[in-house]
Formats: sequence, C-alpha cells, structure tokens
Amino acid sequence: MEQNEDLNQFDIPIAKRTYLSNSNPLILKKILIISPFLCLLFTIFAFRSIRNIEQSPLISFNSQAKRNHDHRILGHLPYNEIPKEKLVFIEPYIEVHIDMRDSLLNMKEEAKKDGIYLVFLSGYRSINLQNDIFYSLKSIRNQEATERARVSAPPGYSEHSTGFAIDIGDATKRETDFEKEFENTDAFKWLIKNAAKFHFKLSFNKNNKFIDYEPWHWRYEGSIEALKVFETSNRGL
Ligand SMILES: [Zn+2]
Repeated sequence: MEQNEDLNQFDIPIAKRTYLSNSNPLILKKILIISPFLCLLFTIFAFRSIRNIEQSPLISFNSQAKRNHDHRILGHLPYNEIPKEKLVFIEPYIEVHIDMRDSLLNMKEEAKKDGIYLVFLSGYRSINLQNDIFYSLKSIRNQEATERARVSAPPGYSEHSTGFAIDIGDATKRETDFEKEFENTDAFKWLIKNAAKFHFKLSFNKNNKFIDYEPWHWRYEGSIEALKVFETSNRGL
C-alpha cells in the first residue's frame, strides 16, 4: 500500500507541478473572481431543472392521482353504512348514531333555553333509501347526475348513511326546511354560534365547488369513530 502511494507520487510530472506552483497566485486569483458567478449559474440551472421536473406532465398526473386517491364521485366521498346495532331513534322517524344522540338532544335543549326551536328533519338514511332519492326522485326533476349530485349524494356517498349527519330546521320557519333561506333563520344563526360546543359542524359550506351550500346539514365529530369517518373530508383532499 505504502509502496503504491510512493509510486503515485512519482506519477505526477515534476515539470507540471513546478509550473502550477509558479503560476498559482494568478490562476487562483482568477478562480476566486469567477467562482461566485459559477456558483450562481449552477444554482440557477439546478433551480430551473427542478421546476421543469415538477411541471412535467408525468408529475402533474401523479399529483392529480394523489388528490383523486380519496375515491370521490362528483365531489362526494364514499361512506360505509352504519351497523344497525349502533342506530337509535331520537324521534319516531329519525334514527342517528348512538354516539351523537346525547349531544344532539342536549343541543336542542340548550337552544330552547335561548328561545330557539330546532327541528330534526332527517338523520340516518340507508344506502337503499339514498339510491331511491338519487335515481328516482331527482330523475323526476329531469336532472343529470352531475346536477343531482350538487343537491344530493349518490348512494354509498352520503354522510347520512354513517348515522353522524343530521338535517336541522327552524320549528318556527318550516317553509325554510331544506332551503338556502334557512341561513336567515334564528335557528341557523344560533347553530353557527353554538353547534361546535356540541361537536357539530356544517358539512357543505359555500366554498365547496361540487356540492351546493346546505345550511341545514350538520355532522357530528365528537367521537373517535366519527372523526375517523370524516378524516378524509377534514384533510381537505
Ligand atoms: Zn343532509
């Protein structure tokens, strides 16, 4: 090993070494002057290359695919149907997930103390019922699937099938049931101010580009199960 290193030293021509050492100050000076420019040029080149890679069609396709990874259909996320044993009636025709029953009823009572009368319009809906709503009821209105999906989820894609969604109206303004005008009622104003205390959140606000604004539709996020169900939606994917 030592011998090899010695030999390598002899490989370097002495004349060249002498030449370099003689002209060192001048060359070094030149190198020192141009090196910042070379660095700058290299940085610009590297930055542009990275940008080109990011903008390449393949990368765009991949990020698009990532965004679509949540399996949305016409803007709606897929939801499983709640097992029957987790459903409870809160009114003769309204069933909800057992986890949200107490919170929902407490919210109604608290609202009453403030002179606000909430009325529950729709809770759990089976995928079969959602199927009827989406394909029968909306087709009577002569709407195409995209138009229907703005106001109603396709079967298997409704928050109502999880048991964690509730449609709420104002008992003193029934003409606003399922209407955008519900947002002008005292009930809605009260909900906006207080619903979070009871772990309820408006699902479809005005910023949603696929689904129409639904001021009456609230979902429960007060249990781990509920949070898991709405995780994708909350991540904004
Ligand atoms: Zn709803």
